[in-house]
Amino acid sequence: MLRKEGLLRLFNTLKKGNTVYAPVEKEGYYIYSCVEDFSEIAIEFTLPLYPPKEFLLPQHEEILSFNMRGVRATLPNVKQVIFGVRPCDVNAINIMTQFMLSEPPDPYYQARREGTLIVAIQCTQQFENCFCAVFGTYKLSTGYDILLTPSNRGYYVTYGTRAGKRLLEKAGIKPDNKQPTVEFKPTRKQAKFHSKIQELDKYFNSKYWGVAAKDCFSCGGCTIVCPTCQCFDVDDHTNLDMKSGSRIRTWDSCQLKPFTRVAGNIFFRKNREERFRHRYFHKLSWGDNCVGCGRCLTICPTRIDMIEVVLKL
Ligand code: SF4
Ligand code: SF4
Repeated sequence: MLRKEGLLRLFNTLKKGNTVYAPVEKEGYYIYSCVEDFSEIAIEFTLPLYPPKEFLLPQHEEILSFNMRGVRATLPNVKQVIFGVRPCDVNAINIMTQFMLSEPPDPYYQARREGTLIVAIQCTQQFENCFCAVFGTYKLSTGYDILLTPSNRGYYVTYGTRAGKRLLEKAGIKPDNKQPTVEFKPTRKQAKFHSKIQELDKYFNSKYWGVAAKDCFSCGGCTIVCPTCQCFDVDDHTNLDMKSGSRIRTWDSCQLKPFTRVAGNIFFRKNREERFRHRYFHKLSWGDNCVGCGRCLTICPTRIDMIEVVLKL
């Protein structure tokens, strides 16, 4: 069982040779930020506004540079810890890793993932807008190095990898043999949503997609904050000398019309309704791509609620 002094010891061990990112309170939100001192961490945080995916797949990333002599891949070299990752986000990282490392593996993502340690903190309740009880993504089996579970006396601690075990040994922390179990029961509305998404294909041509999409600005906010969205675009930037430059990849969004533009100036999902519906099918029907974090509702300027939309189809 870890109390404040134990947490401090763990933090100081993690700091040695690593950059540590953790939730910090900024203007009423929790945001993952680089921290130097344990006192900066908002240890009783709810769900951070943005997921930690940017540390594994940055929003802008140079992937190669070129000059008149040739081309050089810019492989990242990171040693970092993400401290305070909620279970839904650990599960989202597992989904993203499976995708990014499927053949052929993405070497940039791979280098970052291998250089990253994850300290997860178990939730003991669903926060506002969360619906992880629908998918069971509040539970963890893999993807973390160290797991802390809060109780009224402190934090139960365990490890999920050899690296996590070594870290605890270095910090002089004994893992707890027993871990408390956490169970979240879906609300009635969440349970109805769960049954309906089992047969979402039946509603592909529902007229309600057009009604719901009328409130959508196609701003792409929902995909920016989604911990499992990983689409990107690639651009070459030439320097003013016209002899050197770099190739940059930048997050993209299926909700933006230019995303659907291909050779011949063809837009394969031209209207908003099709793009809107596509996100629902990608997240809820074509694979397990939603972890129920609820960020797409939190960020949406018109408060479009995925559960409400599905229930109205
Ligand atoms: S955040 Fe809301 S308005 Fe923006 S694209 Fe997503 S659903 Fe549409
Ligand atoms: S679709 Fe929404 S609720 Fe599901 S993982 Fe993405 S942001 Fe979270």
